Amino acid sequence: MEQKSVELFDRAKKVLPGGVNSPVRAYRAVGITPRFITRADGAYIWDADGQKYIDYVCSWGPMILGHNNPIIREAVEKAIMDGLSYGAPTEREVDIAELMIQMVPNIEMVRMVNSGTEAVMSALRLARGVTGRDKIIKFEGCYHGHSDSMLVKAGSSAMAGGCPNSAGVPVGTAKDTLTAQYNDLVSVQQLFDENPNQVACVIVEAVAANMGVVGPQPGFLEGLRTICDKEGALLIFDEVITGFRLAKGGAQEYFGVRADITTFGKIIGGGMPVGAYCGSRELMEHIAPCGSVYQAGTLAGNPVAMAAGLAQLNYLNTHPEVYTDITDKATRMAADMRKAAEEAGAGVQINQVGSLVAPFFTSDSVESFSGANRSDLKKYAAYFGKMLERGIYLAPAQFEAMFISHAHSEEDLARTLIAVKEVFTELYQ
Ligand SMILES: *Cc1c(COP(=O)(O)O)cnc(C)c1O
Repeated sequence: MEQKSVELFDRAKKVLPGGVNSPVRAYRAVGITPRFITRADGAYIWDADGQKYIDYVCSWGPMILGHNNPIIREAVEKAIMDGLSYGAPTEREVDIAELMIQMVPNIEMVRMVNSGTEAVMSALRLARGVTGRDKIIKFEGCYHGHSDSMLVKAGSSAMAGGCPNSAGVPVGTAKDTLTAQYNDLVSVQQLFDENPNQVACVIVEAVAANMGVVGPQPGFLEGLRTICDKEGALLIFDEVITGFRLAKGGAQEYFGVRADITTFGKIIGGGMPVGAYCGSRELMEHIAPCGSVYQAGTLAGNPVAMAAGLAQLNYLNTHPEVYTDITDKATRMAADMRKAAEEAGAGVQINQVGSLVAPFFTSDSVESFSGANRSDLKKYAAYFGKMLERGIYLAPAQFEAMFISHAHSEEDLARTLIAVKEVFTELYQ
């Protein structure tokens, strides 16, 4: 049934490390052959063997309006007729920046880059450049792309200095990354106390969506704001997932907490490679050519990518019902999955914030990284494989989110739920 994918994966493994251009795609966590995708439309994707799936990966978030959306496609088609790249300013870059500033609270200026990784890397440089401090605080289990200083996890203690969790990250870089515990303000304050006047910024996923999905406890984000103000550090919301997803204005609007610097990616490109970092005029004018924080990009603000992003953001801005729709569908999906787990006698937690959903295979509620780590990964792998067999395409690893898009129909959700019920029952019989 997956013969073509098996053949393609064999070829791929000879020329691409692990057969892929991004590790999670290799399906190592679930131990089966990744499906090679040939096309996508609306809520569906098709693999090289012609199998059709209901897609809940949605390219890891960008496809909030579903695949092959005609509005975005037509904007791209129109843009490519005028050439693919100029390396010079265009009106579209101004249009999208103005629109973002209108949609998102607390941003007055925008710098476009080509990925979420680049947005975060540049935001950290800006925070360091502005504060004249080297250290940064991140949270264990939060993902911020693959730049050196972000590939650091905590030791057994949140107080420990950084130790890299990738080979090739210099110890000197890693030692400036301090790791705290998500939803634990005490662990944050402790790091500030131990490193007085040395911390440039705290960076956080307002909703942790790279450890499964774990939302902020009441007061957590507000507490980060207070601590950063008191300590003279900047607060960075990495909204590469939550931006333009939780609400038009992302997590800042959804939770009513202000960030100093906000990073975007994924949705902002409408499926094209785009990232951005944003903040007040005062902060952003530290960036070259205005200020002394250098950052540049040959293809940054690429006209075709901007056309795709602008079309998607415009649609979201003028159709607020998208947000009620995806949140409502995700809320019902989560409730139905909880009920399915209960009926199957399965100790499964279903976390959900906005359109983000994640099951954890544990009987304990999951409110932290250590909680997420209690999930039975073998159970997740089995769940993934059985759902795939039933035509449901989920993230091939526990520590990811299930994305509900505007394109998922009631019938898609109902079919998905039937599969969930069968699979939970099989897993826990
Ligand atoms: C995906 C992601 C990134 C990295 O974005 P890329 O475009 O993959 O470089 C950064 N931060 C968060 C929160 C993400 O989910």
